[in-house]
This record gives sequence, C-alpha cells and structure tokens, in this order.
Amino acid sequence: MGFHPGSDVVAVQRAPKRGPARSLWRIFVETLRGLMTTGARVIEGPVTIQYPEEKVPVYPRFRGRHKLHRFEDTGLEKCVGCSLCAAACPADCIRVVAAENTPEHRVSAGERYAAVYEINLSRCIFCGYCEVACPFDAITMGHDYELSAYERSDLIFTKEMLLAEPIERAPLRREGE
Ligand code: SF4
Ligand code: SF4
Repeated sequence: MGFHPGSDVVAVQRAPKRGPARSLWRIFVETLRGLMTTGARVIEGPVTIQYPEEKVPVYPRFRGRHKLHRFEDTGLEKCVGCSLCAAACPADCIRVVAAENTPEHRVSAGERYAAVYEINLSRCIFCGYCEVACPFDAITMGHDYELSAYERSDLIFTKEMLLAEPIERAPLRREGE
C-alpha cells in the first residue's frame, strides 16, 4: 500500500503487528511521547508563584500536616490511645499517653482515649506510616505544608492543635495541572 498524504497509514504499516517486536514498538512510542511532553513543559518555562499571597497547589496524595478526627455524629474522638501509630513511626516522634474512659468522662468511643497525643513535627519525615497503622482512621495526613516556627518547641503539635482545623489551607492541584 502506498503513502496517502494527510493520513497516518505509513506509521501504522511500519508498526509490527504482534509479538515482542510489537511490545518494543509500543515502549518506544510511549517513551517518545513522554519525552515530547516533558520537552514541551521545559520550553514553557517555570511559573512564578507570588508566595505567600499565592500558595503552591499540591497533589491530592501530598502528605502534609496531620489531623486527628472526631466522629461527626457524637463528637467523640476516634483515637483510642492504642499507640499503634507511635509504634509504626520510624522517626519516633509520636507520644501517646492513654487513659480510661468513664461514664462521667467519655472522650472517645473505645475503652480508652489519648489523654496526651503529641507529634514532634521537627522530627517527622512525613512518611505516612502513622496514618496507615491507625485501625480507626483517627489520624490522617492533610495537605498543609506551612509549618515553619522560630522555636523547636512550637513544632510539637498537641492533641488540641491536631484536632483543630488548620488556620491556612493549601490549595489542591486541578486535574491535568
Ligand atoms: S508521618 Fe511518619 S515520621 Fe511523621 S509522625 Fe507519621 S509515622 Fe512518624
Ligand atoms: S491515632 Fe490511631 S493508632 Fe494512633 S493511638 Fe490513636 S487510635 Fe491508635
């Protein structure tokens, strides 16, 4: 079959039809496509962000400042002070001191609650192991990354700080950004 101007018949004819040669061809085409996309981005150049007025948007899976959660209906804390997050933490930066719930003083839905829950964010490596280890989704990693402080002690986040909503919110990237 000959060359048809304005069509991609030639490219299709050159692609092997099946077998390992076809797989190699597909890898080659995908690699080429990736290089061309990256090249196009480099040519576009960097974008200046007017921080701190404008914040750099993060990807949805970005792991930033932690958050402790409550049950929406009862308001009770989800954390039961089991310390599994502390055991999983490779930086040893979580401190949990558990206490018993009583009928007069119920803090969590379980038998116990975290009387003390602290994360030393100056040591945290934002690996997310604590989030994965928690059996009750009591702790999750948020998107907020503005965590600088003048004193190291200010980077020890207490339970009250982790239960509260963050003051500043990092924006999320839109699809395709
Ligand atoms: S993110 Fe990693 S280092 Fe930070 S508190 Fe959780 S487990 Fe520890
Ligand atoms: S945050 Fe989760 S893993 Fe950590 S002490 Fe609380 S319930 Fe246990």
